[in-house]
Parts: sequence; structure tokens; C-alpha cells
Amino acid sequence: NLLIKFENVGKIYQTGQITYEALKNVNLEVYEGELVVLLGPSGAGKSTLLNLLGGLDGASSGNIFFAGENIAEFDDKRLGQFRAKDVGIIFQFYNLVPTLTAIENVDIIRELGVEIMDPLKALELVGLADRKDNFPAQLSGGQQQRISIARAIVKRPRLLLCDEPTGALDTGTSREVLKLLQDQSRVHKKTVVMVTHNNLFADIADKVVYVKNGTVVDVVHNDNPKDAF
Ligand code: ADP
Ligand code: ADP
Repeated sequence: NLLIKFENVGKIYQTGQITYEALKNVNLEVYEGELVVLLGPSGAGKSTLLNLLGGLDGASSGNIFFAGENIAEFDDKRLGQFRAKDVGIIFQFYNLVPTLTAIENVDIIRELGVEIMDPLKALELVGLADRKDNFPAQLSGGQQQRISIARAIVKRPRLLLCDEPTGALDTGTSREVLKLLQDQSRVHKKTVVMVTHNNLFADIADKVVYVKNGTVVDVVHNDNPKDAF
């Protein structure tokens, strides 16, 4: 099933007198359960694309459909609902609250007013139930990223967006995190879109989208993606 469709999407940033065309004429289809990797050099427009996918920012032109609905037509309330319920985000630097324990960092999603699974269950799913009372500073980078994955999946979103999720991690830990994300797509049928500039990740994706100078220059389908671990 088609989950996301970009039709001639453009994004222009305006800072004072200066306008910058960060995306132009982007056409893209993402199917339910796919693991999609956005690859391209720094400044290509990958993060901008990810922000539009999650409704964190609006397109300047074109249409973005999510499950058949045009999110450009959402009012603020509907857009807020969409972000709260359907989109989980994983950041490069985890974005955990340092004064809250692991389980409190996951439970915080309750404040969005969406239905969530038991936060301890979410921690179990990332293999960190035993660290539930630890603060972020007491955990390794890889463990912190797994907590942030628990925080993203606790609300059972349809779409997981990951911005350089392993950018701050060493190779071994990166593979653990990638394995969790690949399982989200393979086992739990979540749609996972990951931004990276690491070409190695092309091998584990179902679809690789190459972004350059604000356009999609190539889309490559992997019939037989490698296991992340
Ligand atoms: P990537 O993620 O591929 O590194 P980005 O999407 O972050 O690329 O950025 C694409 C281009 O848009 C860059 O030239 C960047 O400087 C510019 N850009 C990104 N965000 C903003 C913003 N909020 N205001 C102005 N320019 C921006
Ligand atoms: P249902 O599909 O009936 O709503 P759940 O959503 O609880 O049931 O999911 C069934 C099982 O899969 C449970 O063990 C649940 O914790 C687990 N699960 C649900 N969503 C995810 C997810 N995103 N990642 C990993 N496990 C999940």
C-alpha cells in the first residue's frame, strides 16, 4: 500500500531578503512497511525532505499525500494530530530529557494526548527494560538511542523518521540500532525513512533515494536488502 506520495514538491526558505530553494520538483512514493534511506551530500536537502514527510514543516509548492490525505490541506489542529499520532522521530543526538529516567523519557509521549503502549513494554522491545530507572547520562550512546527508539515506537506510529540515527555512534553500536530500525520495517511493518550520508546503509534499505542539489536524482530498489546485523 502506498503510504506517502510527493507530487512536484518544492521548498523555499526565506531569510530576510535571501531566498533559497532547498527542494524543487520532488516526486516520491513510499510504501507501507518500506525501509527507505535518503542518501546525499551535506546540504542536498535530505533533512528538509524528512521535515516535510513528518509534517514538521510545510511545502512551498506541490502536494504531499499521507494515506491518501493531502497534508498541505490540514489545519493546525489536524496537523498536530498527524504529527502526534502517526509520526515517530529519531534524532542523531537522541534528544532525551537529561533530568528524566529512561522510562520517564518514554512515558513523556503520553503528554501528546495519544494512546501509548506500556512504556516498560517499549523499553523491553529495545532490550533496555533493566535500565528503566537510569538517567541518560548513565547510559551509553547506543543505549540512549535505543531509549529514543522506544520513545518513538511507544505510540505505535505508522511512520518512523530517523535523521542520521547512527551519526554519533561507533560501528558496532550503529549496527544494533540499524537492526532495530530494520526490524521495525520487516517485523512490525512500520514505514521507516532514514537520512544518512553513509553509503553503507544503502545495502540494508528496500529503497534508496539519492538527493542532490534539492532534487531526487535517483531511486534504487533493493530486491534483496542485506540484514543490518
Ligand atoms: P541535508 O540534510 O541534505 O544536509 P538540508 O535539508 O539540511 O540538507 O539543507 C538543504 C539546504 O537548505 C541547505 O543549503 C541549507 O543551508 C538550507 N536550509 C535548511 N534549513 C534552512 C532554514 N531553516 N533556513 C534557511 N535555509 C535552510
Ligand atoms: P495490536 O496489534 O493488537 O494492537 P500491539 O500493538 O500491542 O497489538 O502489538 C502486538 C505485539 O507487538 C505486542 O507484543 C507489542 O508490544 C508489539 N509491538 C507493537 N508495536 C511494536 C513496534 N513498533 N515494535 C516492536 N514491537 C511492537
